[in-house]
Amino acid sequence: MIPRRESGKGDVQIEILFCGICHSDLHTVHNEWSGSGVPTVYPYVPGHEMVGRVTKVGSAVTKFKPGDLAAVGCMVDSDGTCPECQSGLEQYCSNMIATYNSPDGRLGGVTYGGYSGSIVVKERFVLRVHSNLDLAGAAPLLCAGITTYSPIRHWGVTKGKKVGVVGLGGLGHMAVKFAHALGAHVVVFTTSSNKKEDALRLGADEVVVSRNVDEMKKHAGSFDFILDAVSAEHDINVYIQLLRRDGNITLVGAPSKPLAVPAFSLIFGRHSLSGSQIGGIAQTQEMLDFCGKHNVTADVEVIPIQKVNEAYERLSKSDVKYRFSIDMASLKSR
Ligand SMILES: [Zn+2]
Ligand SMILES: [Zn+2]
Repeated sequence: MIPRRESGKGDVQIEILFCGICHSDLHTVHNEWSGSGVPTVYPYVPGHEMVGRVTKVGSAVTKFKPGDLAAVGCMVDSDGTCPECQSGLEQYCSNMIATYNSPDGRLGGVTYGGYSGSIVVKERFVLRVHSNLDLAGAAPLLCAGITTYSPIRHWGVTKGKKVGVVGLGGLGHMAVKFAHALGAHVVVFTTSSNKKEDALRLGADEVVVSRNVDEMKKHAGSFDFILDAVSAEHDINVYIQLLRRDGNITLVGAPSKPLAVPAFSLIFGRHSLSGSQIGGIAQTQEMLDFCGKHNVTADVEVIPIQKVNEAYERLSKSDVKYRFSIDMASLKSR
């Protein structure tokens, strides 16, 4: 058993029903982010894409009651007072507490994530989920969903805009669904033409094989916004050249080596290159409400916890369409 704190006055206790498997879980398992100052503390419990049901609330909790659906994403606390928190951008708070492998101020040690039966979280970090959504598919919205929704909204994607999505994985497939639901013209860039049918089914209007130079040329200078969700090494410059004046490309994938960006490809056309990290709590709720209204969920393969090692093997080869979601009921059947 892993320790969970008793639910206090302002806490919500949640029975976890589904938890998505994020690439970050895998990186942290292998201690691959120790170089960026976040070494993994073992034993480690991954999981920051949780959907579940409220089992208990503290006396000061006002927005949840036992029996309600609830969700928890990548963060479980922040100071609430810094400029970032005051702007509803808790993800950029320097005192943000991540859902796993972050210092646990209450119990000591580190926080433990969602590959578990239950969790206790401060009300401010608990989200509502619409009951019309498939819960297994809703879980990945808490990381893959908000990570793509946030920059898409920030850069003003709407009807009439031309949007590119680079990389059709866990993040990319969500970006396609959101941009499509917002009414944009969506173009998916892929290295393998066998993803074409899938991309169209997910909501893409066009699919471009990025190795095909002629095909790429046809789109030069035409995109308002491109979301780059590729974490493998790749030439980002070929995408910058597809931006129109004032177009933006935002990175949500994290290649381990620095990217080469010629200054002129930004200078000509006043292009901008940005990054983006998940999204704030208010925007995460906005995203979940949007998903409830438009019936948007991730495409998932539901697995029992007993298959988690196999799932990690497959995820490391990008062999999943498009997210694994663990059915936590399987924890009881060992
Ligand atoms: Zn994640
Ligand atoms: Zn803060």
